[in-house]
Amino acid sequence: MLHFLFPSLCLHCEERSPNLVCKNCATFFELIDPLTRCPFCFTENEGRHACPECREKKRWRLRCASALDFTPPVQTVVGKMQGGQMPYLAKTAAAFMVMQMERLGWDEPDLFIPIPHHFLFPSTHLAKYLNGKVSTCLRRGIDQFYLKRGAQIEGKTVVLIDHVMKRGTVLQDAAEALREGFPKKIYALTYARALY
Ligand SMILES: [Zn+2]
Ligand SMILES: [Zn+2]
Repeated sequence: MLHFLFPSLCLHCEERSPNLVCKNCATFFELIDPLTRCPFCFTENEGRHACPECREKKRWRLRCASALDFTPPVQTVVGKMQGGQMPYLAKTAAAFMVMQMERLGWDEPDLFIPIPHHFLFPSTHLAKYLNGKVSTCLRRGIDQFYLKRGAQIEGKTVVLIDHVMKRGTVLQDAAEALREGFPKKIYALTYARALY
């Protein structure tokens, strides 16, 4: 156990390091500045305006954000989280998400809703460490999301949680399913944003 608390090798490059990741790799764990991103898909777009694609597709209903860019060291952390044997990684990842949420200035959330996956993925662990109520009311069928019967999200501000946002379509689809429960507001937050 001590080995996990005081790892002697960097998780990513395996250089000797007193911390989870060495000094070099740690530079990749810097929060993305939300002011440099499109608030709807979180691609780079100076000045916090909607990017051309979001404007064209009128994606005004779902604000999406991530804590970190999906650089190789961050990919390593996500890969290890996916195994599910390292809950402390989800805990530190969630800490980055909490810090990012403070900078985003979103409305106070009532519920965190992890994106369900077919295999063991860390979204549920991440949600658990976000200091709030977690609801698993979102389910996944073969090719679509649906809301669990009796889900109590009406009038609530909810935040969808996932480990990585790629093109954002999974979050969009999940948000569509949530809308059937009449939430007041839906946001989506992920640990990492895939590079584009
Ligand atoms: Zn390293
Ligand atoms: Zn956009």
